[in-house]
Amino acid sequence: MAPKFRHHDPPSGATAATRRARILTNHLVLHTQAPPSSYSHPTLLSADVCLSYSPPELSETISFDTKEMRRLLDAHHIAERDWLFGLIEGNELFNPVKIGGKVYVMPDLNQPFQQQRDMNMKRIKYLFDKGVHMGCYTEIEPTPESYMRNIALQEVLRTYDLALGIQMAVHFFLWGSYIKFVGTKHHEKWLKATESYEVIGCVAMSELGHGSNLQATETVATYDSSTGEFVVNTPCESAQKHMIGLAANYATHAMIFAQLHTNGRNHGVHGFLVQIRDGNGKTCPNVRIADCGLKSGLNGIDNGQIWFDNVRIPRENLLNGVADVLPDGRYVAKIKDPRERIGAQLAPVVIGRVVISTTSIYKTKVSLAIAIRYALSRRAFSVTPNGPEALLLDYPSHQRRLLPLLAKTYAMTFAGNWLKVFFTKREPQSYKTVHIFSVAFKAIFSWHSMRTLQECREACGAQGMKAHNRLGLMVAESDGQLTYEGDNNLLILQVSKILLSEAKKHNRPLQVFGLEHMNEPSPIIPPQLSSSILRSSQFQIAALRLRERDLLHRFASEVSLHQLRGETKDQAINLAYHLYKELSKAFTERMVLQLTIEAEEGISAGSIKDVLALVRSLYALICIEEDDTFLRYGHLSAENAATVREEVTKLCSELRPHALALVSSFGIPDSFLAPIAFDWVGANSWSSVSGGH
Ligand SMILES: Cc1cc2nc3c(=O)[nH]c(=O)nc-3n(C[C@H](O)[C@H](O)[C@H](O)COP(=O)(O)OP(=O)(O)OC[C@H]3O[C@@H](n4cnc5c(N)ncnc54)[C@H](O)[C@@H]3O)c2cc1C
Repeated sequence: MAPKFRHHDPPSGATAATRRARILTNHLVLHTQAPPSSYSHPTLLSADVCLSYSPPELSETISFDTKEMRRLLDAHHIAERDWLFGLIEGNELFNPVKIGGKVYVMPDLNQPFQQQRDMNMKRIKYLFDKGVHMGCYTEIEPTPESYMRNIALQEVLRTYDLALGIQMAVHFFLWGSYIKFVGTKHHEKWLKATESYEVIGCVAMSELGHGSNLQATETVATYDSSTGEFVVNTPCESAQKHMIGLAANYATHAMIFAQLHTNGRNHGVHGFLVQIRDGNGKTCPNVRIADCGLKSGLNGIDNGQIWFDNVRIPRENLLNGVADVLPDGRYVAKIKDPRERIGAQLAPVVIGRVVISTTSIYKTKVSLAIAIRYALSRRAFSVTPNGPEALLLDYPSHQRRLLPLLAKTYAMTFAGNWLKVFFTKREPQSYKTVHIFSVAFKAIFSWHSMRTLQECREACGAQGMKAHNRLGLMVAESDGQLTYEGDNNLLILQVSKILLSEAKKHNRPLQVFGLEHMNEPSPIIPPQLSSSILRSSQFQIAALRLRERDLLHRFASEVSLHQLRGETKDQAINLAYHLYKELSKAFTERMVLQLTIEAEEGISAGSIKDVLALVRSLYALICIEEDDTFLRYGHLSAENAATVREEVTKLCSELRPHALALVSSFGIPDSFLAPIAFDWVGANSWSSVSGGH
């Protein structure tokens, strides 16, 4: 689509040449005037001859009800979200900054890190007093409703500042979930203290020597039956707890993972509660804590290192939901299989992954709203001689950069909404499904988030790097999500391992994870793809299912081949790494598309359904276009691949007129966006930056 020109077109009757002459004349007049005696004469800057900001709302058409679209996207607790947005907007603690006549709330991420941490804690105390996350374990039992509310609040908190949301989530959701779900009745007193913030909890699983490989944890907890205590020890430097959020300054207690030794036997990794500071913030005897110092992002969080020098804790501090130690030192496993035992102890991190999945998509909404609004007001170059400059979003290349990411964000929002509901209503028989999707979505959504934030940063040019425009800082802040709560590369390995074990259950039809389609005959891609075929949801889901089943078969046969050659199963999987990466992506994208189609089906005919059909098609086709497995394994001919590419371009140009409405539907208040999303000329004008001097 050729760029459209909406503003600054020559007034009717004036030719491009006369307009250019007028601009040049004015330009010369400005420069031949006597130099200003001081720069305090804004009248010398004539608005007539320069670019002026024109809000996209003046030129763009809103073709559907954005409030209704927001209702579909946010799906739950909209009033609570708006309440929290308002709470943050309305308090000085959240650093309101007036730029170009508008107020933005944003943490000052260029402050020294200790100041950022102190501010973070002040904000948490304020929000806690207002009832954010209050009563999540005792007053209100964790019902699906209260979980959904808390996740919605996390989505808002992390929109303001990732460090704020994470610091609260570590205490309330991770530390709290360990006590609630891996502890037993006698740990309930800790829940009350957690809710009232009398104890501040951190979760210390990772060590310097082992982060992902938790089974190789080196910290040891040895039971002493003569005193009824565990003795917790850090036997070597690599066993130090490392990068532990809240440990450097604030946590009073830690849930630690340690090897449980009793009666001379090691029973593997278990969770223990250890006090690390007293109520005055003084480090407890035999505990040493150091600060991990400045990080490349998330400096509002105090990550620390912890060493235990034979710290004694009562026997009751073992989180005994999966296994217990009797007073005489006998070990009683409630779950017999050691692998299942460790799996059960990792269950609390599932909520962390669900929250990362959905909040990382919320972050992409902020960045896309900023970058698309900017692209609807920023002009660069003319495409005709002496013609007016074109809006960035009228360049097909700019549409290509941003609109597929927008379509992915929409699709992942619908999928994330499903995951939240599925997680909060989970039953024991659905744990495996919750696990695989929380792992898969955490990895693929947080990668999408990083890619989107970076693309939006670049799409705003130099403005994207200014701290108050948020984009560059959001890139740095979001990076850690790829690593904590499970390194993404290892998470996708887990996904493919689970799929492999399902595929290897011979003689049984597949009945889990949406893989039922594999029991049917393989879909066939028509030899000639037309636009209407490409836009049909039947074709799209068939294409993604075809890729998924093919990759699962290829992965299974390659692993078997390596095993036949004498490799262990684990090494055989490692050798097939290129396939497991492709498979877990194919699995996730198929599920996201399936859930998007289901969401679309629930909407009655009208303008929203029409635009969502375009969004869904763009999502499906960009997944196909970006993945070379379709060509490599012959699912698409070169000709069909070219047709897909053309259709993506067409869809981008068809979605272009809806871009403003699509980002307005995110429902993010202006104050949570950035000056470049609005009058960026005014925000950078002399009167604005000089403070009126
Ligand atoms: C900001 C931040 C906050 C954190 N907060 C906490 C916290 O509060 N509590 C806590 O316990 N931990 C915390 N962590 C630590 C985090 O959980 C670990 O960093 C994470 O589990 C990865 O471990 P690692 O850093 O040791 O990396 P490693 O496990 O050493 O992995 C390094 C790289 O090697 C790759 N790799 C490793 N094994 C394999 C394999 N088998 N096959 C292929 N590739 C492999 C990984 O994909 C990764 O890219 C935090 C980390 C960060 C960044």
